[in-house]
Amino acid sequence: MQMNYSEILRGASFKVTIGRTAILQALSGEKPLSVPEILRKLRGKKLDAATVYRALEAFTETGVVRRIDLQHSHAHYELAGAHHHHLICKSCGKIEDVDVCDTKDLENTILQRSKLFGSIAAHSLEFFGLCKKCV
Ligand SMILES: [Zn+2]
Ligand SMILES: [Zn+2]
Ligand SMILES: [Zn+2]
Repeated sequence: MQMNYSEILRGASFKVTIGRTAILQALSGEKPLSVPEILRKLRGKKLDAATVYRALEAFTETGVVRRIDLQHSHAHYELAGAHHHHLICKSCGKIEDVDVCDTKDLENTILQRSKLFGSIAAHSLEFFGLCKKCV
């Protein structure tokens, strides 16, 4: 996947730095990464863990990066890109992107039943099961 990281950063009002670019680059792979995995990918780039944590926090807040709850003890991160969901194997942790998103009826039902909310702006949705190797 070829991405223009400078454009992504500028689009979210971040200054383009080597460190920020390297973090986005580390997240450009197929699967969401935990912080230790991100740090491993950034080895040799002279970025300390606190800097990476701070950048991930800021990226998540501005929507550049998405934090995903894989029901492990730690969060995983990926480039936000196009809206999608995930299938996650409860046994081996394999992750597959899901681009089906058919939540309109569900959202309407939720809003009809809600006493407090009048609109839904976003959602995140992950599915947990067993991959074909682990069934
Ligand atoms: Zn599996
Ligand atoms: Zn994904
Ligand atoms: Zn969706």
